[in-house]
Amino acid sequence: MSNASLYQLRGSTAVITLNQPPVNGLGQALRQSLLTSLQRAVDDDAVDTIVLASSGKVFCGGADITEFSTGGALAKPDLPQVCNAIETAPKLVIAAINGLALGGGFELALASDYRIALPQARLGLPEVNLGLLPGAGGTQRLPRLGGVPLALDMITSGRPYGAAQLCDAGVVDRLHDADTDFVEAAVTYAAQLSAESAPKRRCEDIAIDTSELPDNYFTEFRTTIAPRTHGYYAPERCIQAVEAACELPLAEGLQRENALFMECLDTPQARAQQHLFFAERGVGKIPGIDTSSTPVRDIRKVAVIGSGTMGGGIAMNFLNAGIPTIILDLNAEALQRGIGVIRKNYEYTVKKGRLSSEQLDQRMALLQTTTDYTDLDDADLVIEAVFENMDIKKKVFRALEQSCKPGAILATNTSTLDVDEIAAVTSRPQDVIGLHFFSPANVMKLLEIVRGEQTADDALLTAVQLARRIKKVPVVSGVCWGFIGNRATEPYVRESMALLLEGATPAQIDRVHTDFGMPMGLPSVVDLAGIDIVVQARADRRAHTVDLDPSYCAVPRKLFELERFGQKSGRGLFIYEGRARREDPEVLQIAATAAEEFAIEQRELGDEEILERTIYPIINEGARILEEGIAARSGDIDVVLAYGFGFPRYRGGPMQYADEIGLDRVLAGLNKYRKQLRYGETWFKPAPLLEKLAKAGKKFRDYRP
Ligand code: NAD
Repeated sequence: MSNASLYQLRGSTAVITLNQPPVNGLGQALRQSLLTSLQRAVDDDAVDTIVLASSGKVFCGGADITEFSTGGALAKPDLPQVCNAIETAPKLVIAAINGLALGGGFELALASDYRIALPQARLGLPEVNLGLLPGAGGTQRLPRLGGVPLALDMITSGRPYGAAQLCDAGVVDRLHDADTDFVEAAVTYAAQLSAESAPKRRCEDIAIDTSELPDNYFTEFRTTIAPRTHGYYAPERCIQAVEAACELPLAEGLQRENALFMECLDTPQARAQQHLFFAERGVGKIPGIDTSSTPVRDIRKVAVIGSGTMGGGIAMNFLNAGIPTIILDLNAEALQRGIGVIRKNYEYTVKKGRLSSEQLDQRMALLQTTTDYTDLDDADLVIEAVFENMDIKKKVFRALEQSCKPGAILATNTSTLDVDEIAAVTSRPQDVIGLHFFSPANVMKLLEIVRGEQTADDALLTAVQLARRIKKVPVVSGVCWGFIGNRATEPYVRESMALLLEGATPAQIDRVHTDFGMPMGLPSVVDLAGIDIVVQARADRRAHTVDLDPSYCAVPRKLFELERFGQKSGRGLFIYEGRARREDPEVLQIAATAAEEFAIEQRELGDEEILERTIYPIINEGARILEEGIAARSGDIDVVLAYGFGFPRYRGGPMQYADEIGLDRVLAGLNKYRKQLRYGETWFKPAPLLEKLAKAGKKFRDYRP
């Protein structure tokens, strides 16, 4: 017999311990072992109660995710079978939840008769985040035990709840907050239940009283969550499953749950969400670096150069992680302004109740300021976030070269500049790296880590691990204009602006993008980021492309000349009046005049053309990024676009979207516009990798450089 679970008799209690580190993933071996142990306990006359416990820190992380792609998750005995065996066992089963209990792990506990938990345990059903629903009774048992509103929230949000909260809701029966051994406490609890002749508590015997729910409860719940579930397939099926729990006896409800689970399994959304889940976990694997043998550098103090929009946000990440941070700027005034913003941000969080005033004070106490480079001599990592100007950045790096200790990592937060060129002004290019934070830097999860030609392996690995410490998702990029994210989305900006010239309206483009699932359409993003920023960031792009396409970003350039900078000046591609905004006839006129200037004939554009012309070029640029080795995997590009640019998670990122709809379709679309459009030859030439993979019937996800 495998040791996936352990079996031990303590008095008349059989303790079955999940023993599949690190998270007790419910793979086939553990499921089989649980079933065998359960049967052994049932068959043993000396046993009157059964405790389910864990040998690790986590109670159970749920399904073994590696079985998803192999179909192993459905192999017998499957999880519903194990849960049903627990529920129908003729002896009391007590789940002893010592830590995280997620998905199938929580479902095991729900099928048990009683639940005892440590206060720090967290329990949840995160399946919806993988495009699925809990398929082992979670949708049927949780509403019976904890009520419909709690179940609906947990199942459709995927958010775990703390044990105390679930104790209040009646899902957890007892909290163990004493300092004594937890499993022993569970055994004592079991003995007590047995002595009291406590009954089995089968969900089968519990009917949900829907008369307590307000009228139209489910309809209203659907309306409430609609804004955040638009485009996803699973949330509606989660709701239907909970409705079934209200209407059907358990056995039939479980069948309904299973049918809905199978429906979810074979959807583009489930494939996309699972792709992103694995891609996010894969980003830390850096080609050519053996993480087990590469040392990492100690980062105990961080310096940030520049206390502007980015510098302040970057510093907050380190203060939040308890790392002392020093900010340098040109003068006291700039520093004062920067610190004021940091404090205001924290005060806002305190007001929201997500931070205590003591924590605010602790964080601010970790922050130092200076205008003197010699104060940076003990920093282990320096992140430069000054103006996006190569000469200024070089000046800063020359100063860092003078004042920083050997082995300090010297990072730049540049969005577009050449990290190798910056590294070249120092005598230690092995210590230079790009750390590209996204704005707002204290909020956005993505961190692009730019690997310069000479960046040392240990500096790179240190950055990746540090990113995790400050709770970021690190994606490694090679050096090129815009790295992965800004480079891949540049054609999205360019084509959206070209479409304006050709006769599309900002509102139409916006709608096409939000219908596709973007949180905002590109015109809205441009207005929010600032037309001045968008135009200035493209000044060198334009210098390179003006001969190929003189109309490149013509509309924002005209608006920039008119000092219409977007939301901040009240007028940009739209007009803003307070929170409202509307289409601006002047913008349409500006576009029409510019079109004339470039001899472009305006016409009515269909939504499909707008979508294809703005999304396919992202995929095409992604193919080049992959082919050039700027990104190591297509999944890395998807993670960048999902986390940094709001690409809909249910589409999995642009490369997964292409894999889903077929690379041949993307290729045909690009070739169509290449022929049809005036600048088609310049902008719509398919990437060789796309052509190659499409011809071979392959997908981006199969490609390794
Ligand atoms: P910002 O204008 O808000 O701040 C720049 C700060 O640098 C100012 O406080 C300025 O006083 C200071 N500074 C300028 N020259 C300096 C010098 N020689 N020594 C010390 N301090 C100096 O700019 P920002 O938006 O924070 O951008 C900073 C960097 O971050 C740029 O490279 C930018 O491309 C990059 N970036 C910006 C964003 C964004 O959305 N704003 C996103 C990612 C990356």
